[in-house]
Order: sequence, then C-alpha cells, then structure tokens
Amino acid sequence: MSDLLLPPSLEGVEMVRSVRTPAHLDYSYTPGRAMSRFLTGLAEKKIRGQRCPSCGKVYVPPRGACPTDGVPTEEEVELPHTGTITTFCIVNVSFYGQGMEIPYVSALVLLDDSDIPLMHLVQEVPYDQVRTGMRVEAVWVSDDELKPTLESIKWFRPNGEPDRDASTMRGNA
Ligand SMILES: [Zn+2]
Repeated sequence: MSDLLLPPSLEGVEMVRSVRTPAHLDYSYTPGRAMSRFLTGLAEKKIRGQRCPSCGKVYVPPRGACPTDGVPTEEEVELPHTGTITTFCIVNVSFYGQGMEIPYVSALVLLDDSDIPLMHLVQEVPYDQVRTGMRVEAVWVSDDELKPTLESIKWFRPNGEPDRDASTMRGNA
C-alpha cells in the first residue's frame, strides 16, 4: 500500500505534518477623534470617556457615538481611576508572547461614573481572591513612561473599599 503513496526513496521517512515558523504583522491603527482623545488622555494620566446626550450613558473608551441612540457623544467626561470588577477570568493557559506569569486575572472593570466596563489586568492580589464586586484602582506606569496606550495603566489592584453589589451597578441596567 505504501508503494502507492510514496516514492521508494522516501519509504521509512517520517512525513512532515507541521512546520513552526516565526511570523509577525506590522500595521497602523487610525483611532479616530474619540479614541484619540482617550489615548492622548492616557499619556496625561487621565481616563476620558464621553456621555451620550440622549440616554446619559458614559462610554469608555469612547467610540464617538451611542450605539443605542445613534447620536454623537461629544461631551467629554474625565473619569475617576477607581471602579468595580463586574466579571473576570483566571488565565491558566500559557501562550506565545505572554508577558504575565500564569495564573493571572483579566477582568472587566466598571469605572465609577461610567456605564461600560473596561477590560484590564488585576494584580497585587492572589488570583483566587478576586471576585465580582471587588473595588479596584488603576496602577499607572511612572510619569516618564506614560504613552497614548492602555498600557499606561499597568493593571488594577484592590483599593480596600467594601465590595459593591455588581447586579445593581450602572452598566447592568
Ligand atoms: Zn445614548
């Protein structure tokens, strides 16, 4: 049977089933006006959202329009650096390029006065103590490392305030 599939010279040679090769992509990202304000704010240690003039919801990062009302969100709101974990996951699987030691926690943090949670890391607490409703604060890189990227916030950490009931918070209504 193998005579039909392989030339005689390849008999007994193991077939190549996969090849690993390094690959990367370089690309440019054009953030638009609303996201640009958000990103440049991060370089100034500010978290900027935008409020919808119709429903009053505050979006962060802002996309420039309210997805519910379809109107521009031009009022800028500077948000506090504190929030509440609305949900989270514990990452246990290692992957190429990861910068964190596993297990670590990735969470949705609903910043105070905002209506959309932001995804970020949670550190400075054992992973098995992270919980929904936990109060957290942003930990920033040093001032000379600030850049227009969400990486200007290193992670969030517990700020010691009592937990909140996540089911009654804004953003879940
Ligand atoms: Zn709206």
